[in-house]
Amino acid sequence: MYNQGHHDPAPIRAISPDSLGGPMLKYIAIPGLFALGLSLGCGGSQSSPAQTDSQGHPDESAPADGGKAKIERYAAKEADVNAYIVHDGRDAIIVDSTRSAAEGAEVAALVAATGAIPSALLITHGHPDHYLGMGAIKQAYPDIAIVVASQDIKADIIGFTAWMEEQGWLEAQPQMKRKTATNPSGFDYEQIAVLSQPKLTLAGGTELTVRSDYLPSEAEHMSTVHVDELNAVFTSDLSYNGVHLWLGVGVTHQHIENWKGILHQFESEFAGMTIYPGHGPPTDTSVFATNEAYMDDLLTVVAEADSAEAAVAEMARRYPDYKNVDFLLAMSVEFQRTQLGAE
Ligand SMILES: [Zn+2]
Repeated sequence: MYNQGHHDPAPIRAISPDSLGGPMLKYIAIPGLFALGLSLGCGGSQSSPAQTDSQGHPDESAPADGGKAKIERYAAKEADVNAYIVHDGRDAIIVDSTRSAAEGAEVAALVAATGAIPSALLITHGHPDHYLGMGAIKQAYPDIAIVVASQDIKADIIGFTAWMEEQGWLEAQPQMKRKTATNPSGFDYEQIAVLSQPKLTLAGGTELTVRSDYLPSEAEHMSTVHVDELNAVFTSDLSYNGVHLWLGVGVTHQHIENWKGILHQFESEFAGMTIYPGHGPPTDTSVFATNEAYMDDLLTVVAEADSAEAAVAEMARRYPDYKNVDFLLAMSVEFQRTQLGAE
């Protein structure tokens, strides 16, 4: 298990942001960002689930031929993030929960549509677009166990939540503020359990193997899940498909090197398996080389561009179909500009 702080001199160890805000305001003054976080936090998800395969259409659910278990993907609108459901029709394990109560409730509804009762919700890492929906899922399924792969990830989640509270970013979702003596109606983050073994098993016997021994990369601490029975790997944010990668605050050059190293290993390790990324639709292992090349491209473009705007425009030109230009790409360019010469 990696101990935090080896590589990253940044003072924000437990709270590197993902898709929606984060501590970049400590570093970069970007007009409107605060408003962006608030508006996405309160209003971004009340409309219909246009991108959601709420009935589990075949392109999004990919059961292995003859396998017992199936996979459903909930494609959130906020942050283009995914929540996944692995189920056997009786029991289900949910992987990540989206960023909002509204979309978390839709994940719960998607679980209900499978007929399964979920036993566990695994949060892969401490970025809010992956965990803020867990309150709604817990409300729908009070008996569900919310689990993480390591104590570090639990600390990341609580640390990020505390930071968001300080920033006023949870005013739109007050139920996800921490439960304390003075806020008894808050969410009890202490209920998050650390897995005692790196494995989750569906009632029908399907095994999900959880791995968390990764160097800091997209997040300080990350976990992945693979399901051999389904030939499936849930990479969480170690891979993005068709969505701009988060290379924003906290993702130093060292983290990028670590990340590329992990992906390079994945290329052979997961050959032939279906890849379920943290953001964007399922794909194959070619996504790893694509993501590695993207990181190189972004660093090159940032180094060569005269301005942040020019860098964003050039990346958007090179990756015309990628989603989330305004937040993920813009924030990544801003932060990587601050990293030039920082080594
Ligand atoms: Zn993410």
